[in-house]
Amino acid sequence: MAHSLFTLPESISIPVQGRQQTYPVGRIFCVGRNYAAHAAEMGNEVDREAPFYFTKSAPNAVLSGATVPYPPGTENFHHEMELALAIGKPVFRATSAQAWDAVYAYGCALDMTRRDLQIRERNKQRPWDLGKDLEAGTVFAPLTLASEWSPSDDTRIHLSVNGEIRQDATLVELIWKIDEIISHLSGYYHLRPGDLILTGTPAGVGPVQAGDVLDGAIDGLQPIKLTLSKAE
Ligand code: MN
Repeated sequence: MAHSLFTLPESISIPVQGRQQTYPVGRIFCVGRNYAAHAAEMGNEVDREAPFYFTKSAPNAVLSGATVPYPPGTENFHHEMELALAIGKPVFRATSAQAWDAVYAYGCALDMTRRDLQIRERNKQRPWDLGKDLEAGTVFAPLTLASEWSPSDDTRIHLSVNGEIRQDATLVELIWKIDEIISHLSGYYHLRPGDLILTGTPAGVGPVQAGDVLDGAIDGLQPIKLTLSKAE
């Protein structure tokens, strides 16, 4: 019987509030430009033609509380505070009701970004991977079950760096709502447990430095924390 030549590092599994079992991270889908004020600060116009996505790989995700090095290859490393959705059942071409039903849990996430590389590649009409799918570049806080929390228009999402508020918005600003994202994305993928969707970041993204401490929160969910150490 054949065996694998080596064992891959295990991807993280996210704690779930009030549960013994954790939620293993499979695929990570991210929605681009889903808050109008953030699209504007990035020099883009907002349209409602269709949402767009990029992906980040599971082995590059870490849990809240981690201390990670300032990444290589960038001089403009940015925070993006986001609401994450954790899919709990298989769903394909979901209706709005099926979309809501497919959400197992919600949590805070950070979509850390090498902004200089993202913009350089964007301007050359190349993929964003160098800017977005960096090592330790996605952070997940413990999840809260969808049966115990639901988003509302006045739910506040915010992030501070070294205690200074940088991002502060409410979920009413989401251009594509949660059910709309799942309905649309599930037209292209057979969504399944392990799939996480980051729903985009509000305005106020900006650079972080080695030694900075990032603290984010969304009303009613577990907070998220990331500390940056010196570059390797
Ligand atoms: Mn993002």
